[in-house]
Amino acid sequence: MKISERPLIATAAIQERIHELAAQIDKDYKGKHPVLLITLSGAFFFAADLARQLHETVQIEFIRAQSYSGTQPGPTVRITSAPEASMTNRHVILIEDIVDTGRTATAIIKHLQTQRPASIAVCALLDKPSRRAANSTPDYVGFTIENHFVVGFGLDYDGLYRQLPAIYVMT
Ligand code: 5GP
Repeated sequence: MKISERPLIATAAIQERIHELAAQIDKDYKGKHPVLLITLSGAFFFAADLARQLHETVQIEFIRAQSYSGTQPGPTVRITSAPEASMTNRHVILIEDIVDTGRTATAIIKHLQTQRPASIAVCALLDKPSRRAANSTPDYVGFTIENHFVVGFGLDYDGLYRQLPAIYVMT
């Protein structure tokens, strides 16, 4: 496996889109002080850039879920690290790197619902709707992509390539 020579999504395009998403979130969450619940590890670059483009005051929390090994999605998702802060009555925006089958987002939402947040939305840098298995559509999407396995901008292949500043396809 190797990464494509040219990026699928260039750095400048990612940054421009993050700026637009931040403007939309600022508008939708004005005065609500939402929680940005960042899915580790893949969403950390996206979340860091998005958070710093927001004018709205947010609380940053992290959650870790495991569902994937290599390039095949596993059938189950486990929450391996949950936020210590309470999500009760909070407006939660779940930040994901990519929504693929949708199982991770669905499992995290189910986990969060036990705490009765005021609202839950999903914001994903990438959306791969062709592979959706669970009934889960992100509320905010950076880019919709075809059924590629992508790396970079936080997304890895066996722990590697997260540091790439653009999105590349594994071929
Ligand atoms: P889902 O539960 O929606 O199938 O998958 C979500 C997780 O699978 C993502 O957070 C990500 O870690 C991993 N994943 C899905 N598609 C890709 C991909 O194209 N590239 C990488 N690096 N990870 C992916």
